[in-house]
Amino acid sequence: MRIILIGPPGAGKGTQAVRLAAHLSIPHISTGDLFRAHMNQGDQLGRTADVAVRAGLLVPDEVTIAMIEERLARPDTEGGFLLDGFPRNLAQAQALDALLAGARSRLDSVLDLEIPESQVVSRIAGRRLCREDREHIFHLDHSPPRVAGTCDVCGGELYQRDDDHEATVRRRLEVYRADTAPVVDHYRGQGLVTRISALGSVEEVLDRALAAIGQGEAQGHGLPSK
Ligand code: ADP
Repeated sequence: MRIILIGPPGAGKGTQAVRLAAHLSIPHISTGDLFRAHMNQGDQLGRTADVAVRAGLLVPDEVTIAMIEERLARPDTEGGFLLDGFPRNLAQAQALDALLAGARSRLDSVLDLEIPESQVVSRIAGRRLCREDREHIFHLDHSPPRVAGTCDVCGGELYQRDDDHEATVRRRLEVYRADTAPVVDHYRGQGLVTRISALGSVEEVLDRALAAIGQGEAQGHGLPSK
């Protein structure tokens, strides 16, 4: 399956993407995670991304699209993929359409995670990530680690993302409204969008997402519910 997960910051895209991708045995491709990996390496792409990410703005399209083209050219995507954080504006959506058309391929589904804006800042303020594995995500209130500051899964140190502070989160929300919301309309025009409430537990949202893509009840998705 070829799936796009879309939604404002704080909707839980990363949390759900990890579980959905594991359930469907397809790679989880997160532009945010790819940028953070380059930023940690301090390479040219990472330095370009760093400025935009810290400001809560989009990384320039030419950089982002080239990175995704390279990633989607790898053989592990032949059986499908789950895109998390891409496309984030209409130019990116059009580039993806062209790429898929060129490969005689097409999207199966676009899942639009919905969350009231009033929830976003508190959700993000409590978010903590593991330094050892980008897929181990916690929340101080909603899914706290058993030991403060330590990842339950691997014992890694938990940290707060540089762009998860309130002023930057508000900027990311503005960018979402202006640039990313039109992407949902673009795919709605193609009949691909299912809107899902991002409220409730991780398991509840996962069940909704699986139902939306015709995969029924969540079973054996391979990660603890935290
Ligand atoms: P969130 O969805 O919670 O905002 P992400 O990890 O998806 O977090 O993205 C973090 C930052 O990475 C974004 O604010 C932006 O600066 C950059 N980014 C991620 N995906 C894209 C993209 N498709 N195009 C441009 N910039 C992106």
